Amino acid sequence: MERELAEMHGVGEAIAVSNGLDALRLTLRAWVQTGRLREGAEVIVAANTYIASVLAISDAGLKPVLVEPREDTLLLDPDRIEESITPRTGAIMEVHLYGQPCEHESVREIASRHSLLIIEDNAQAIGATYKGRLTGSLGNASAFSFYPTKNVGALGDAGAVLTSDAEVAAAVRALANYGSDRRYHNIYKGFNCRMDEIQAAMLRVKLRHMEQETRRRREIAEIYLNGIENPKVELPTIASGCGHVWHQFVVKTADRDDFRAYLSESGIGTDIHYATPPHLQPCYSGELGGPYPLTELLANQIVSLPIATVTPEEARLITRIINRWTGKKHS
Ligand SMILES: *Cc1c(COP(=O)(O)O)cnc(C)c1O
Repeated sequence: MERELAEMHGVGEAIAVSNGLDALRLTLRAWVQTGRLREGAEVIVAANTYIASVLAISDAGLKPVLVEPREDTLLLDPDRIEESITPRTGAIMEVHLYGQPCEHESVREIASRHSLLIIEDNAQAIGATYKGRLTGSLGNASAFSFYPTKNVGALGDAGAVLTSDAEVAAAVRALANYGSDRRYHNIYKGFNCRMDEIQAAMLRVKLRHMEQETRRRREIAEIYLNGIENPKVELPTIASGCGHVWHQFVVKTADRDDFRAYLSESGIGTDIHYATPPHLQPCYSGELGGPYPLTELLANQIVSLPIATVTPEEARLITRIINRWTGKKHS
């Protein structure tokens, strides 16, 4: 499974681990252990990401530095990175949120100008491409999740780290296995973050179906993109050169409660990814700064339409129902 994943992405090594959060935090810890990052370094990440991205940074003893996303793509905004760089900045985390790649070329240009590392949170974007290259192969290291609801899901929790830095790969491998580099010899105070054999066996099979799953999601997304015509519903923006894999299909509306109630009456379940941004979660109680007005506004307007489990016929029906929504009936 590790070899398949590494070869598919053209990177030196894949390390199978317990889940996506562990993949992120082990990578960051390995960077500190190997001197790639200074202890306590700052890591820049989009403020509207899923909280796991931020938890991994703080778990590794590093400091999350949040930046507002782009309003159109909802992804890391390269124009806002530079103003957040300080002498303590060590890395940028590209979260390919909802399945769409970040603007990697701009991010890489900033990263190389300031000698920063790039970690990709690829938990939602396996199979996505940026200018023809798979996400997860773009930065210095990347983290994958195979949680059952992700585009490639195991039977339970699973994740992976990809990197072509052999020393970092060895450190991740050791950290995930009690910190031992060989049997009963512990070079780090490590953890047990191994992937179960049964998940690895399952994933070898599931990885072969990745492209089929991507095609299925793209077909549904095309139906929504071509069919939804309601001035009150803003469709997602796809940046040029990006092969989106639609982990979520996220629209925006100023009248979200009414929209969701209306769809719910027709038996259409929607979700919000994510209603409370990390900086407003009780566990961070103000330590991530803020306010982040754009992130907070987006959190109040985004809605995820069904994509993982719908057929093309259902997507066409949902499209027609959305087009009939006036936003008045339910206010
Ligand atoms: C799911 C997810 C994670 C964490 O993955 P787990 O396998 O659930 O630990 C991290 N980042 C993002 C963006 C995710 O969607």
